Amino acid sequence: MKLDHKKIQKKEKAISICMDKNESITPNRLLILNILLESDIPISAYDINSIIKSRGKNLNISSVYRVIEFWVKLNVIHKISYLNKYMLCDNTDEKHTHITNICTSCLSVIETCNETMGLDLKESSKKLGVLLSPDINIEIPIICQKCQ
Ligand SMILES: [Zn+2]
Ligand SMILES: [Zn+2]
Repeated sequence: MKLDHKKIQKKEKAISICMDKNESITPNRLLILNILLESDIPISAYDINSIIKSRGKNLNISSVYRVIEFWVKLNVIHKISYLNKYMLCDNTDEKHTHITNICTSCLSVIETCNETMGLDLKESSKKLGVLLSPDINIEIPIICQKCQ
């Protein structure tokens, strides 16, 4: 599948984030990154596994999870717990908290950040005497415009 301009940029960015952390771009890391780039909807580890199989390769599910976790830690991939699926981060340069808004009707995901949504998460956490854990996306269930 051919990647459009925006996706090529995302791929280059992901690779540079990886290199900045002195991590190597293994064939499996690249393969799974490409599969997520090609998908416009969140996909599960099992979806990724069957796409790999359909391309005549074989990777066991624990290796798929290991690679996914690698990219999640770098904040290149977000886990969507509500769906138990994964998607590429829409903007790895985003310094605010990444927010994944999941439509509970059509299951599409719209990514934004707390600043855009007017949510002062650091202040809210302080009120509880806790600190906001950084670098993990926050999920908000929504009904998207199409589904309203
Ligand atoms: Zn993100
Ligand atoms: Zn929807």
